[in-house]
Amino acid sequence: MEHDVISGSCLCGQVSFSFQLPYVFFQCCHCSQCQKNSGSAHAANILLKIEQFEWKTGQDLVKRYELPRAEYYCTSFCSNCGSAMPWHSRNGRYILVPAGALDDDPGVKPERYIYWESRAPWYVPPGELPVFDEEP
Ligand SMILES: [Zn+2]
Ligand SMILES: [Zn+2]
Repeated sequence: MEHDVISGSCLCGQVSFSFQLPYVFFQCCHCSQCQKNSGSAHAANILLKIEQFEWKTGQDLVKRYELPRAEYYCTSFCSNCGSAMPWHSRNGRYILVPAGALDDDPGVKPERYIYWESRAPWYVPPGELPVFDEEP
């Protein structure tokens, strides 16, 4: 399982990529930057070594934004549809893959929440709300 190739793509489908496990970490980040970038309660990010990762199509469409005040934080997105896309670390050794972009089940799950103290005031942990398979 851990050596399978896992694929991902953006909403419009023009950007696609693949990678191999194992990950360095797989975590959900509740920091205010990840809330802004994801438009949601938290990011879900898989960190890989750069050699485990490969762009398949549309790499020229991928735009990168380095937050000036942050030492590490970047964002990356498809310039056509705006979907969050993988971005490489500033030292070029790692790549951070947003798990929501995956097309396959990676067979692994996040191992932790980070920046929990910064979580959105409206965030409700899973298990505390009723669930529906589709819109009720
Ligand atoms: Zn796209
Ligand atoms: Zn974050």
